[in-house]
Amino acid sequence: MPARKQKQRTVHHPEKSSHQKPKALLFDFGGTLAFLDYDLLAHEFSRDARPIDALKLEHAEYEGRAAIDRHLMGGGNDVIASYMQYFNNWMAAAGIPAAEIEAYGEHFRRLHGEASLWRVVRPGTMEALERLKSEGIKLAIVSNAEGQIESDARRYGLHPFFDVIVDSHVVGVAKPDPRIFQIALERLGVAPDEARFAGDIYSIDVLGAHAAGIEAALIDQHDRYHWIEHAKIRHMSELHPLDKK
Ligand SMILES: [Mg+2]
Repeated sequence: MPARKQKQRTVHHPEKSSHQKPKALLFDFGGTLAFLDYDLLAHEFSRDARPIDALKLEHAEYEGRAAIDRHLMGGGNDVIASYMQYFNNWMAAAGIPAAEIEAYGEHFRRLHGEASLWRVVRPGTMEALERLKSEGIKLAIVSNAEGQIESDARRYGLHPFFDVIVDSHVVGVAKPDPRIFQIALERLGVAPDEARFAGDIYSIDVLGAHAAGIEAALIDQHDRYHWIEHAKIRHMSELHPLDKK
């Protein structure tokens, strides 16, 4: 577990261009626009002797994010390996015995293969997208995924709001590589300092966006991302305008 820094709810003043209205907002997909179906997973992962509730599972997921941050910020550069560590640490934090985690992983992948488990669009998301769209702001999704983001966005009703959808599997480059953000910026026709990004994993989303010169906020819906001090927001609707927070 990472060292816990003193609790600090960072409501910040962006480093640059805070006085300017951004021309484009870019969003991560899983954990930002569409959340894991924790209710389904809690049902699937509970055993008679070991019930798990959805909120416990969601809180435990932070330890998965911490594992990715430890790997990528500790000199590791294998994003795929970091996703394995994500799952293993998440399950351990949820109370799953180490000997059973592999089987849980297979179960998770089987469910995810049937239909994406990142499928819950939370209240306020559609309204925020409508508001941003009506303000003339261009919108994009930048996701590490398996090629399904465009169809998922369509199925969830998010697709009409987005000018650009960049799926790492489709373009062949994944966050935190800045090139995936550059692809989005090029397609949007905006410069890095005209855009802002929000995502839920610091080392993948925020550091990736920064590497592309884009100001970024970290999604921290339960105020538990305490090992990172950075601009945090509870919900994607808070990305703009950051400077009124
Ligand atoms: Mg995410």
